[in-house]
Parts: sequence; C-alpha cells; structure tokens
Amino acid sequence: MRDIGLSRPVLAAGVGLDNMRIMDGLTPAPDLDFTEDELHRYSRHILLGEVGAIGQARLRQARVLVVGAGGLGSPLTLYLAGAGVGTIGLIDHDTLELSNLQRQVAHTTGRIGQPKVESMAATLRALNPLTKVETHYRRLDEATAKDLIPRYDIVCDGTDNFPTRFLLGDCCHRLGRTLVSAAVLRFEGQLSTYKSYLGAPHPCHRCLNPEPPPPGLVPSCGEAGVLGAVTGVMGTLQATEVLKEIIGIGESLSGRLLLWDALDTRFRTIRLKRDPACSLCGAGG
Ligand SMILES: [Zn+2]
Repeated sequence: MRDIGLSRPVLAAGVGLDNMRIMDGLTPAPDLDFTEDELHRYSRHILLGEVGAIGQARLRQARVLVVGAGGLGSPLTLYLAGAGVGTIGLIDHDTLELSNLQRQVAHTTGRIGQPKVESMAATLRALNPLTKVETHYRRLDEATAKDLIPRYDIVCDGTDNFPTRFLLGDCCHRLGRTLVSAAVLRFEGQLSTYKSYLGAPHPCHRCLNPEPPPPGLVPSCGEAGVLGAVTGVMGTLQATEVLKEIIGIGESLSGRLLLWDALDTRFRTIRLKRDPACSLCGAGG
C-alpha cells in the first residue's frame, strides 16, 4: 500500500483499513494517493470507518452511468458528484422545459431550452470539478445501451417510461452490470438494486414484472403528476445505494424492493424472489 500521509489529521480517525466489508466493492485495489484538496473535500467521508481512504478511492475510480437527467437524476447526480465519484455518464434526449423545474432541481430557469445533459453537467462541474462528466445527448435504444453500459461500472435508472426501463434491465443483466432503479408517481416511490448477472439468489427486474404493462395502463408523471420532493427523496435514496455498492458496505438492496408512501409517511420493504422460470434470468431465458 502506498503512503497515504497518516500524519494528516483528516485521515487519523478514519483510514478505514480495518473494515473487511469494504473488500467487496466494485473497484478493487484503488490508488490511495490523495491531494490535499481531495482530503479536505472528502474529509467527512474519510472520517467514516466504513468509507475511509479505500472507500473514497473506490468512489474516485468508479464510473457511473445515469439514465435520465430529470427529477431522480437531479439529487442522484448531485450526491454522486459531491461524494467524489470519478466519472458520471449522463444520457437523456430531452431539452429543459419550464414544467421540469418543479422537481428537476439540478437545472436552472436560465437554461430552459438547453439539452438536459448539458445543463446537469454544468451544475455537477460547478459542484465538484474533480468529477468528470460525460454527456450522451440521445435516446437510449438497444444499440446505445450495448455501446454505453459496458463502459461503466454501475448503472442508475431514473427514466420515466416502461420500454426504457425494460431495455435497461435486460441489458444490465446480459452485460453484467449492477442496476440501481428508482421510480416515482404522485406521492409514492420505489427503489431496488438488481444484480441478477451474479446468479441465484439475486432476482432480475422481470422476476418482479415479467412484461411491461400495456401502454396507457400506468400513467406517467406527466399525466398523473408527482410531488417534487418525492423525486428528491427517491433520487437521494438511489444515490445512497449506488455509493454503498461502489464502496461495498452495508446490506445491498438486491432481492428487496423499497416502497415509500409520502402521504402516510410509511416505508415498507418487500422481499423479491428469483423466479426459476423467469424469461430473462431463469429457465425461460
Ligand atoms: Zn429474472
């Protein structure tokens, strides 16, 4: 291991080398050579024994693809950039509209009309110039998914439609990438992590919903509305799970679905089982 400057006070309490749970993180053998600026910026992380210098180095080394630069993507990418994730890829084909700003708080009124990926990238670069932001201003189709997903370590679904969600879930399973997926509607949100490429007992998204619902059956936020702060909570929970997966700490949300009802202020977690007959990860695949 390289000298990480233990005399620096910020590291004294939280190198984190004693925590074996972090050895399961996505990015092995990270470079522990930090600049003074990095040590200062990330000192509250490094103080956490569960994160420490190794966890912070894993964040710096990580490449995260965020699909959807909207209401979920706003808090998600802000916290990933603030946390020091090394590279964030943004894919979205929309331009910013006035009606987005009620919940898509990484954007600004002055940027209406700009591609959302460029507006969000500007916000993230201003927050943390050490994070590299890669923008992909296009719709996620199958060819794009197959091209982009292998270039990243972990994928976040912050989209608002079922065809894209299913395409993303299928591609992440087949290409061997962890998918952290959040969704919101009206006053409710849900969140799960999918690692079905690792095999049993990890379920995939089709173990939960074998096929997308028929068009028109489930309304979108554009049709049914959403409380802006609900997207903020779910995007922040999504960021937390992404950081846990990268660092390799805590209990993964794989195999569990978190449900939140904001009106009742009630969280529930239900077990997701891998379906042996699943059309993607089981005998039907
Ligand atoms: Zn499955």
